[in-house]
Amino acid sequence: MKSVLITGVAGFLGSHLAEHYLKKGYRVVGLDNFSTGSHENIEYLQQSSEFQFCEKDVCSDFKTWPEASGLEFVFHFASPASPPHYQKLSIETLWANTKGLEQALFYADQHSARLIFASTSEVYGDPNVSPQPESYWGHVNSFGERSCYDEAKRFGEALIFSHNRRHTSGHGLVRIFNTYGPRMNPNDGRVVINFIQQALKNEPLTIYGDGNQTRSFCYVDDLISGITQYADSNYQSPVNLGNDTENSMLELANVVLQVSRSQSILNHLPLPIDDPKKRRPDLSLACAVLPNWKPKVPLAEGVLYMIEHFKNRI
Ligand code: NAD
Ligand code: UDP
Repeated sequence: MKSVLITGVAGFLGSHLAEHYLKKGYRVVGLDNFSTGSHENIEYLQQSSEFQFCEKDVCSDFKTWPEASGLEFVFHFASPASPPHYQKLSIETLWANTKGLEQALFYADQHSARLIFASTSEVYGDPNVSPQPESYWGHVNSFGERSCYDEAKRFGEALIFSHNRRHTSGHGLVRIFNTYGPRMNPNDGRVVINFIQQALKNEPLTIYGDGNQTRSFCYVDDLISGITQYADSNYQSPVNLGNDTENSMLELANVVLQVSRSQSILNHLPLPIDDPKKRRPDLSLACAVLPNWKPKVPLAEGVLYMIEHFKNRI
């Protein structure tokens, strides 16, 4: 039987990846230390006898990780991901994407498996090129509020490049742009989950700054499809994954208000330090490397799915 190992399995993306591979008939071994993930996210997975969970920090010695026979892929997704979480857990974030990634690479090599690292659009920082192609080297502050995350991910990319060269291995990475969907941590402070919770309670939507900064929001199913197709390819270089429809935070707020039929007003709060002004993936490379992939779910539809999930959860 084929298997995959997923670090960060109790998080938003890790739990969706696990669900995907269980449905495909794989055995899934998951690691998490619950620093930003939840027991609730793995309850559904634990109903399957093919899911094995181990509570562990990814920085621990890989030789203490559970055994996995027939291992095809290691997905290294363990890391705080929202700005409030990674700023609070800044040192832990630095290590999860560097020391933790190194342990995951050793584990993958020992099992002759291919590792896929969850990199991020944050490697482009506050970009002065838009949309951002993979060839753009970025505009990143190495000494600031976001640097623990941005620089750790950049180090992770460099580690994969050097590791592949030294060990003639075939590991890869995807640069994930803002993704949303069910099982996001309701307290992680990212914008889509914040707006949805506020709208459902008819509380003011918290717009940071003037709300004209942009992001490009991808529904989780589209992202998982891109990640798994990238894993199946032999590609080792960075590939952007996300949705290339760009929206301002004011536009996002309007979509959430319309879909939820909420009466909430907007409340402008100060813009966080180093908040990128715009972000939109150039998906040309992704569409060339993954010929059967493109993002399909429009923002209003994805927001509706997420609201329905959230209401059921309450
Ligand atoms: P999340 O916070 O929901 O999940 C991260 C998971 O990793 C959590 O369950 C957490 O407990 C676990 N974790 C953190 N540090 C750990 C450690 N040292 N040992 C073991 N487990 C640890 O975040 P997410 O949105 O699911 O993000 C998953 C990955 O994708 C992260 O690496 C993140 O940087 C990357 N990413 C996500 C997005 C996005 O929009 N969701 C965008 C870019 C990159
Ligand atoms: N944001 C906002 N209100 C919120 C949370 C975030 O206006 O309640 C803004 C934030 O300043 C940023 C954008 O939404 O410009 C996306 O923020 P998020 O934390 O979701 O992701 P990231 O900044 O990492 O892209």
